[in-house]
Amino acid sequence: MAIDSAPEAPPASTGYAPAWRRLPQALLDLLLPRECALCAGVLDPAESAAGMCVECARSLPGADAPRCAVCGLRNGTAHRPSCGAGAASIPTLVCCDYAPPADRLVTAFKHGRRLALGRAIGAAMAARLEAYRQAQALPSGTALLAVPIAPSRLAGRGFDPTALLARRIGACSGLPVASAGLARIRDTRPQPGLARASRRDNLHGAMRGSPALAGRTLVLVDDIITSGATIREAERAALAAGGRPVLRLAFARTPAPGSA
Ligand SMILES: [Zn+2]
Ligand SMILES: [Zn+2]
Repeated sequence: MAIDSAPEAPPASTGYAPAWRRLPQALLDLLLPRECALCAGVLDPAESAAGMCVECARSLPGADAPRCAVCGLRNGTAHRPSCGAGAASIPTLVCCDYAPPADRLVTAFKHGRRLALGRAIGAAMAARLEAYRQAQALPSGTALLAVPIAPSRLAGRGFDPTALLARRIGACSGLPVASAGLARIRDTRPQPGLARASRRDNLHGAMRGSPALAGRTLVLVDDIITSGATIREAERAALAAGGRPVLRLAFARTPAPGSA
């Protein structure tokens, strides 16, 4: 009788793949939530709630940079007319620029279906929101409202990344989530590749707010802000339904052309 001498946990360099290594990545993420979302390093207990090690959290581009309070761009803290947002706009909070390695994190979450990465992204957004709330209290009853994904994308992806982020932020921050608060009432062309004016026209009237939003104070939640057209359409629809958006919250903001 042959003696099975294979060790329980062979080093990865042997090429031996234990059964758990063959599980789908999304399932592994849920079973093994103690790896850093970016470097896959082992997280200590203090870091595991954030889903990311301290070094990687610091490496997010522009994480500590001063930003325009209105549009979230790295223009310095003062609002400038060049930022493209009206001075009367509600504030925009973002965690970092949409640039390496933050873009890799978002792509793996949304397109690679690495759902557990949403924990790290959502935790970073919740931390950003919490820092804001330290300085500026939100009215009681304020709810998180996810910007809805286009139906064609939902069908292709099988899950709604932004709704998942809103739930995670809600779990971290204690704020309720206004689920199904906004719906896409018509499909739109994908925004990437469209010029700024086309992005706005493409989306106008694409969303409708639920009557349940009436009278509610709302924090709009999206994963990335590029031109801002999508989140502004969500804001318009929420307002039209009687809601009161007070803040925009996104994980990353595409840097302005020509900026660092
Ligand atoms: Zn890391
Ligand atoms: Zn600005």
